[in-house]
Amino acid sequence: KAFRAVNLNEVVSTVVDLVRHRIELQDLYFKMTLTDAPLFVHGDINRLQQCFLNLIFNAIEAMRPGGNLGITSHLISDKQLAEVAIHDTGHGIPHKHLNHIFDPFFTTKAMGEGTGMGLSIVYGVVKNHRGEIRVDSTVDQGTTFTIQLPLVGKAD
Ligand code: ADP
Ligand code: MG
Repeated sequence: KAFRAVNLNEVVSTVVDLVRHRIELQDLYFKMTLTDAPLFVHGDINRLQQCFLNLIFNAIEAMRPGGNLGITSHLISDKQLAEVAIHDTGHGIPHKHLNHIFDPFFTTKAMGEGTGMGLSIVYGVVKNHRGEIRVDSTVDQGTTFTIQLPLVGKAD
């Protein structure tokens, strides 16, 4: 495996630079608050970028102009975990869908607009990095995806 020490804050910043134009085009408010110190995890930088890109795209696609996109990172020092949360004020995920969103090909988007692969890839990447993913969503209010990954040094 091509695993190296990767600064999760850098991964997130790189992805944000890729989507900044979309954020502006869609007239979204955007706020990112990352830890000052780097958050090093043992990982594959390309897969991690893909993971955050998928989550941020979903967040953008769930919102109308004027929506809020928020990205934060945290150090959970007692558990030696890095945490990144992606929050949107979009349409939310109905309760009955929550058990299916990580399944391959599950999509609520129109034909041609979504493949339903994004979150299944995210799930695979997170598991491959020995991490956890959580979703909190309220219909018509918004959604937060939270990812936790073990910091370098924990078990390698
Ligand atoms: P796709 O984006 O191609 O539909 P994904 O696997 O990325 O596939 O997402 C699956 C489904 O989960 C989406 O179709 C949507 O219904 C729901 N979803 C994912 N992220 C969000 C979000 N941030 N807000 C609302 N719904 C979401
Ligand atoms: Mg998607």
